[in-house]
Amino acid sequence: MAIRIGNGYDLHCLVEGRDLILGGIKIDHSKGLLGHSDADVLTHAIMDAMLGALSLGDIGHYFPPTDPQWKGADSLKLLEQVHQLILDRGWRIGNLDSVVIAERPKLKPHIPAMRDRLAEVLNIDPDLIGIKATTNEKQDAVGREDAIIAYAVVLLEK
Ligand code: MG
Repeated sequence: MAIRIGNGYDLHCLVEGRDLILGGIKIDHSKGLLGHSDADVLTHAIMDAMLGALSLGDIGHYFPPTDPQWKGADSLKLLEQVHQLILDRGWRIGNLDSVVIAERPKLKPHIPAMRDRLAEVLNIDPDLIGIKATTNEKQDAVGREDAIIAYAVVLLEK
């Protein structure tokens, strides 16, 4: 069996007047993430990890923020397209793991729903999806609640 690994990183700013969407789940909060799409920072990091595993570039290449067709886009739809690129090349997800760094809100109660939603879109077992949440101990932009960061690693198998 062949394996490939990829990693992804993303940051979006937290602002008032936007929905907070993480892992495809809308989370009740006073602020949301700013971006051209729905700014789902976790899903973006996962997509970049998937693309990176096969050296296929990054999401900015496939979904440029200058392109009006991606304005307000549901990132899960973009994830489906990236996943299809993987499947088309004969690869499947072995597992993926991720970290979301946010000072607030508390993400732990939402993690099961995020795993289930991502698993549904990727058509894989939720046990293959790791999502961990941590804070930045009040340091830097994340600690000031001005941004949320996500990291992801994806293992592909063939
Ligand atoms: Mg992004």
